[in-house]
Amino acid sequence: MRFEVREFPEFSWSFSRHKTLLTCARKYGYEYYASHNGWLYEAEEAVKHAYRLKKLTNVPMAFGQIVHELAEKAVRMFLTHGHLMTEEELIQEGRAMLNQAYLDSRDRKQLWMQKPARYKMLYDLYYEGELNRVEAEDYRGRLHVVFANFLRSRSFQDITTRPQTMQFQQAEEFRFMQVDGVKIFVVMDLLYRDLDAGKWVIVDWKTGKEADDDRSQLALYAYYIMQKYKARVDEIEIRNEYVLSGVNRTYQLTQADIEFMLAKMKQSIHLMRRYQLDMISNEPVDIDDFPRTENQQRCDTCNHKEICLAQ
Ligand code: SF4
Repeated sequence: MRFEVREFPEFSWSFSRHKTLLTCARKYGYEYYASHNGWLYEAEEAVKHAYRLKKLTNVPMAFGQIVHELAEKAVRMFLTHGHLMTEEELIQEGRAMLNQAYLDSRDRKQLWMQKPARYKMLYDLYYEGELNRVEAEDYRGRLHVVFANFLRSRSFQDITTRPQTMQFQQAEEFRFMQVDGVKIFVVMDLLYRDLDAGKWVIVDWKTGKEADDDRSQLALYAYYIMQKYKARVDEIEIRNEYVLSGVNRTYQLTQADIEFMLAKMKQSIHLMRRYQLDMISNEPVDIDDFPRTENQQRCDTCNHKEICLAQ
């Protein structure tokens, strides 16, 4: 299939987009507009630059991504081959992936400059020239904890001890729905139907601490299941598995939770519309019209500070 080159990005909504806008509207402008098409060979250097900065990662983010990838792999290996990955296997793969991110950042800057989606670049190495060793060691150590908790988690135990009573949907794929004509991205870690309990179970692996908006994120997923599978809200169980602490939180939502989430999402879409010159083409306003945050601390750790603070 030929990749379509669009002058402006398609307008869509996701939780991460919403969070970026709340952090800083200028950052939102860089990430969702100024970097658009920055992956193309023929793109202008300024666009490529914004795209590269968007692709910068840091140790906590790389760690979270690795844990999610390996959790997805462990579930897939069990379901397709009956192979139960061991804690040691997961730790070793996780350690190798973290190390690869470090080696890419230290030794392959030129390759990353050309192909920022293929190689990794850690924020600290890019901006500071060296890794925060204490932080890196801390995260290496966490691999033991999260994979031990992952294997013991209620969701993974459900999968491996009674797979015959489960019906699985594909994990970690891009799913979307339309709400008021806007494409809404919904990325679920794990979704299955518990045939014994007669419930849809949505699982989100969390590698950080518990946060206030974890529940409303899952309300969006529940709404997706209601739309796609015509399920009732009381047939859906949503679960956050905090693999760092080993705690899981299971929620049964109500229609009021769904309505609340939808109202918040529509408010957020309304706010995003302010930065469009044209609602159909999604042509944005000028980058200078995306206001900068007044919270200086956010700039200290922002991927885009190199271009933003120079303007
Ligand atoms: S450097 Fe500060 S103002 Fe600029 S995009 Fe980043 S957070 Fe926003």
